[in-house]
Amino acid sequence: MTARNTTQSAYEIFLNAACDRLGYSKSTISLLSLAALEMKVEIPIIRDNGELAVFSGYRVQHQNVRGPCKGGLRYHPNVDIEEVRGLASLMTMKTALVDIPLGGGKGGICCNPRELSTRELEVLTRKFVKRIHREIGPNSDIMAPDVGTNAQVMGWIHSEYSAIYGHSPAAVTGKPLALGGSAGREKATGYGIGIVMKAYAERYDAPLNGATVAIQGFGNVGFHAAKALSDLGMKIVAVSDARSSVYREGGVDLSALAKQKSERGLLTDVEGHETLEAGRELEVECDYLVPAAMGGVITAENADKIKARTVIEGANGPVTSDADRLLRDRGVTVVPDILANSGGVVVSYFEWVQNLQRVAWPLERVDDELTRILSNAAQQVFNHAAQKGLDLRSAAFDIAVSRVKEALDVTGI
Ligand code: NAD
Repeated sequence: MTARNTTQSAYEIFLNAACDRLGYSKSTISLLSLAALEMKVEIPIIRDNGELAVFSGYRVQHQNVRGPCKGGLRYHPNVDIEEVRGLASLMTMKTALVDIPLGGGKGGICCNPRELSTRELEVLTRKFVKRIHREIGPNSDIMAPDVGTNAQVMGWIHSEYSAIYGHSPAAVTGKPLALGGSAGREKATGYGIGIVMKAYAERYDAPLNGATVAIQGFGNVGFHAAKALSDLGMKIVAVSDARSSVYREGGVDLSALAKQKSERGLLTDVEGHETLEAGRELEVECDYLVPAAMGGVITAENADKIKARTVIEGANGPVTSDADRLLRDRGVTVVPDILANSGGVVVSYFEWVQNLQRVAWPLERVDDELTRILSNAAQQVFNHAAQKGLDLRSAAFDIAVSRVKEALDVTGI
């Protein structure tokens, strides 16, 4: 099984197990497995060299029973319908777990954004919105940044959507502040990992000060997680991006690495840091491992090489279902994605609320509300796991699935 289709199959395995524990019928399982709407569009653009290129774009709306679909838009060469479908289903579970009034969706365009100019990316994004605008919007489906997209891309979506429907900031989140973006949105997912980490450490009496961490991915989630965890006194010993991976026993120098990455596009060659082989950051000696890049990176093949005692899923679906079982058998705790990385969707929810009300919250309010929501969600997962003798992922899925089921029941399906 490739990393490309693991998210959907892992979701189905975790969903089936939760439905079994909760005694739900087969028809409920199929309702929660299937997406409500799947779109695939072809997007032709003229490249800067004058040639025509056609890209495939996808948007999947999994469930909207608890609120409009919500989820990121990814630009990556591995994007396909299966990956987007799996990620959309996870969003339904994530919004239910943190109990915000939103459903689950996800989108993507199969492209390599590093090989496209800013003009090409803008045209591609605007044409994608032109193709799907009838199905998205503040009350139906709200996009946000994900791998390969950022606030600028969200700004183009806002502009294109608003050109059709009038000024509509609530149609997309993760926008630049100047267009109604929220304070604290950019750092939210990584910052949220810090909040969940703190809740975990308090609950399980795990010391944070000096605890060692390896992080895969140095993009939005990986970088902000590294900052948040080091602010908690933890020592980040390894970080990586798609092309480079570095280690330093005494703790990496995050500012020097960020500078190197922005100037040279790589993390390597910073004084005092050892270069690692690609993927080795997953296997170094450390207390906590935070995969914060792509899905399906911890598999049956490398699960036995993971030395961390706790894996915090910064990325969506980084641990395959086989690896999940193998890690559990070895006594490794996995803090699941739908809890660990939910800070991003929670602050996206705050952005949507602020845009609908035409107000702007100060950063302190965003951080406080985020801390309250994530700490509550974490405690609920820890309590449910303890009461039922479950691992944290199973506990999180049970809570999320039962909330979606309850909403479906009272809707009268
Ligand atoms: P990003 O594009 O900002 O960063 C991705 C990072 O991963 C980059 O540093 C890239 O170089 C690195 N990377 C890619 N392939 C790699 C590999 N094979 N080995 C090591 N590093 C690799 O994306 P992001 O927004 O940080 O998203 C990362 C993950 O977090 C994704 O799974 C995404 O779905 C998930 N996530 C993102 C958010 C958000 O708010 N951005 C919220 C929740 C979950």
